[in-house]
Amino acid sequence: MRYVIIGASAAGCKAAETLRRYAPNSPITVISEEARPLYSRPLLTYLLSREVAPEKVWLKGEDYFRQWNFDPVLGEPVVRVDPGAHAVHLLGGRHLPYDRLLIASGARPRLLGLKGEELSGVYTLRTLADWQRLAAGLPQAGRVVVVGAGAVGLKTADALARRGLSVTLVARGAQPLSRVLDPYAAALLHAAITRMGIEIIYHAWPEAIWGEAGRVRALTLNDGREIPCQAVLFSIGVAPNVEFLAGTDLATADGITVDHQLATADPHIFAAGDCAHPYHLLTGKRAGYHIWPAAVAQGRVAGANLAGAGLTYDGLLPQNSLTLRGFHIITGGLGPLDAQGCDTVSQLDEPRGHYRSLIYREGKLVGLTLVGAVEDAGIYFQLMAQQLPVAGPVQPGRLWG
Ligand SMILES: Cc1cc2nc3c(=O)[nH]c(=O)nc-3n(C[C@H](O)[C@H](O)[C@H](O)COP(=O)(O)OP(=O)(O)OC[C@H]3O[C@@H](n4cnc5c(N)ncnc54)[C@H](O)[C@@H]3O)c2cc1C
Repeated sequence: MRYVIIGASAAGCKAAETLRRYAPNSPITVISEEARPLYSRPLLTYLLSREVAPEKVWLKGEDYFRQWNFDPVLGEPVVRVDPGAHAVHLLGGRHLPYDRLLIASGARPRLLGLKGEELSGVYTLRTLADWQRLAAGLPQAGRVVVVGAGAVGLKTADALARRGLSVTLVARGAQPLSRVLDPYAAALLHAAITRMGIEIIYHAWPEAIWGEAGRVRALTLNDGREIPCQAVLFSIGVAPNVEFLAGTDLATADGITVDHQLATADPHIFAAGDCAHPYHLLTGKRAGYHIWPAAVAQGRVAGANLAGAGLTYDGLLPQNSLTLRGFHIITGGLGPLDAQGCDTVSQLDEPRGHYRSLIYREGKLVGLTLVGAVEDAGIYFQLMAQQLPVAGPVQPGRLWG
C-alpha cells in the first residue's frame, strides 16, 4: 500500500505516526507546502508578544521524518487531487500516486475582500511566515486595529498591546466570543479586555482600508467612523484549504465531508483536522470547530483507518481555553445559543469575578462556561465527552469551592 498524507501539522503528523504503527514497512509520503512544518500555531500569539522565544515553537526535531521513516515533500503545495487516477499533483508538475490518501490540509484566515486589503500593514496570523511578516513590519508605536473578537483575535490583540501598541478591537456582535459566551461571562471578559487598555467597538465591521504610499493609514467602519491606524490584523475565522479538490464532490465551502470513520465519499480518501467537516459529538450534526485537540484526535482515527482499522470518531467536542493576563475563561460543548430546551445552572461570584454556567440535557452535561476559577474543567470535560449521566442538574456549588 502507498500512503500519501497532505498536511504536516496537528492532524497530518498524528495520522502519519498512528499509521506507521499499523503499517511498519509501507511507504508514507507526507506533504506540506511549508518548508519547515511541525510547529505550534497556538504559540504564534506568544511569539508575537515576545513572551515565548522563537525556538520554542518547534514541536518536532529536524530529523522527525527520518526517525519515523516518512518520505517528506516540503515547500511545495498540492494543486490537484485526481481521485479517478489515484494521484496527487504538485505545483512543480510532479504527481504522486496513492492507494490511500489522507487530506489534513488545515485552513487559512478569511478576509473580507475589501478595498485596501492589499496594502502593506494588513495582516493575518496563521503561519510562522505570517508571524515573521508581522514581526518585521509592525511599527514600534501607533495603533493597530484587530478585526474579530474570537479567541485568536483576543489573544492577538493582547499580544499587540504587550508590544506597546495601541489596540482597537472591532467586533461584529454585541460582545466578545459571541458564539460561545452568555452575557454574564461576556461582561466579565469585556471588563478584562478594557483593563488591558484595549479599546473594543461592538456592532462594527470595516468597510474600507485607506493607505498612503502603499501603507495603511486608516480604516473606515460601517457607521462611517474612520480610525487612524498603522496596521490592520484580520481574525474573522478560517476557510478550509480544499481548492485542490475543485471538480470533485468531496468538499463544500464548510470543508471535506466525512463520515464517522472520517472517510470521504471516496473510500480511498480520508480527511482530518481543520479542513474536515465531521459530526458534532453533542448535536449529531456536521460542524466546523477548528481546534488543535480535535485535529489531533481526528488524525489518530484517520491514520488508523487508512490502514483499515475501522475506528469510529466520536465527534467534535468544542472547547476553548483563553488566558489573558491572569484572566481565565474555559468553555466547552454547547453554547448558550444552541441550548434551547436544556437546563442551565449558573452561579456568579461578582466580588471575585468568578462565573460558572453548566448546561444539561436529559440528565447529561452538554455545555460549560467557567470564568475565573477553572480548576474543575477537566472533570466537566470528562462528564461531557463520555456523556455520563448526572443525578439531575448538578448545582455548581457541589463541585465548586
Ligand atoms: C494564532 C493561532 C492560535 C491558535 N490557538 C489555539 C489554541 O489556543 N487552542 C487550540 O485548540 N487551537 C488553536 N488554534 C487552532 C489550531 O492551530 C488549529 O486547529 C490546528 O492547527 C489545526 O491543525 P490541522 O493539522 O488541521 O491544520 P493546520 O495546522 O492548518 O496544518 C495544515 C497543514 O497542511 C499544509 N497544507 C495546506 N494546504 C496545502 C497544500 N495545498 N499543499 C500542501 N500542503 C498544504 C500546511 O502546510 C500544514 O502543514 C490556533 C490557531 C492560530 C492560527
